[in-house]
Amino acid sequence: MTAANETFASDIPIPDEVADNIFITTIDKIYNWSRRNSLWPLGFGLACCAIEMICTAASRYDLARFGMEVFRASPRQADVMIVSGTVTKKMIPTIVRLYNQMPEPRYVLSMGACSNGGGPFKEGYNVVDGVDKLLPVDVYVPGCPPTPQALIYGLMTLQEKISQQSIRSVPWYQKGSPGEVVPIPVLGPDLVDLRQIDLIRENSVGSMPEEAESVSQPSESTETTDEPTSA
Ligand code: SF4
Repeated sequence: MTAANETFASDIPIPDEVADNIFITTIDKIYNWSRRNSLWPLGFGLACCAIEMICTAASRYDLARFGMEVFRASPRQADVMIVSGTVTKKMIPTIVRLYNQMPEPRYVLSMGACSNGGGPFKEGYNVVDGVDKLLPVDVYVPGCPPTPQALIYGLMTLQEKISQQSIRSVPWYQKGSPGEVVPIPVLGPDLVDLRQIDLIRENSVGSMPEEAESVSQPSESTETTDEPTSA
């Protein structure tokens, strides 16, 4: 306010009785200030990291100081998804569906080693080695599990990121930009991200000649029995 008074005092006459009550700022600052101090997380947890997330919202660490204590039961009312725990292949379709149901602007915070890259279960047959394989992660919080302090630091980092955004360039206000919809992954021999389907198809076709070759040269013992039959 002092700076504003100093800047505009010579140009704009300000009555003394309101001089201390005038605040000049930019749209971006007020827009980002209001958003970053009311980030409502989606209320869901996946594994042990979720316990630390719950502690963070309780009285000792008091997430309410940051305007983030309102954990929402519906993705449609949530601003930030805290992925807290092991992301299994069985669970990832649901996580992606919840993300798609969140309105823009939406953010993703990956909490803990499991969510960041698979953690101790990285080589597991049923574990996704990082939620960022499918969702756009804004902030990673390391640890197994991260402490509540670490999660708070991650959320403060997200606040800083939000402060850097401009209302003129954020994607959700651009014409014809409905927001990214992530296709729900499907389970094949492994997890299939449908956005990579062209690449997968290309690789499959690339590996076909070898297969075709092995099929076209059957062993002598099967030569007589492998004749094509018509239905
Ligand atoms: S990172 Fe560690 S504490 Fe968090 S879900 Fe994985 S195993 Fe549990």
